Amino acid sequence: MNIYTHFLFPFVIASVLAKFNIISWKLAFVCGLIGMFVDVDHYIEQIIHSKINRFSLKSAWNNAIRFHRFNQRSFIHYGIGALILTFIFLILAFFSWRIALISAIGYYSHLLLDYTSFKREKVIRWKLGGLYMKESVIELLLDLILILILVFVIYL
Ligand SMILES: [Zn+2]
Repeated sequence: MNIYTHFLFPFVIASVLAKFNIISWKLAFVCGLIGMFVDVDHYIEQIIHSKINRFSLKSAWNNAIRFHRFNQRSFIHYGIGALILTFIFLILAFFSWRIALISAIGYYSHLLLDYTSFKREKVIRWKLGGLYMKESVIELLLDLILILILVFVIYL
């Protein structure tokens, strides 16, 4: 999934909590950022594995979207990472259940999106400057639905 979908999905969930004053809007926004931040491991794996353009964000992006030269997902994208992070969220909950909650929503929504794949889905590809872009029609539809829900939550 694309980085903006990884922001939108947890942000929309958290916005419902913000609407009911369970968390603040600032925390709802941070929840979206956490959803995006999970993929920071792609950049770390780029630094570890890449022979050329080791520190290039553009190279890390293009590898994730198009070239797939090596697996950019670290342990946090797999079962053992989920187990460790679940443990961390539980400990965090003793100090601040709100921070634990938005961290959990950000992280688990990320995994849910990453592991939701539709076979033979139609994909649109284009190039933006030096960046390869890819968007599936289903993801585009999901983004539109999420934006509609967000507008509905904010203005209702
Ligand atoms: Zn991911």
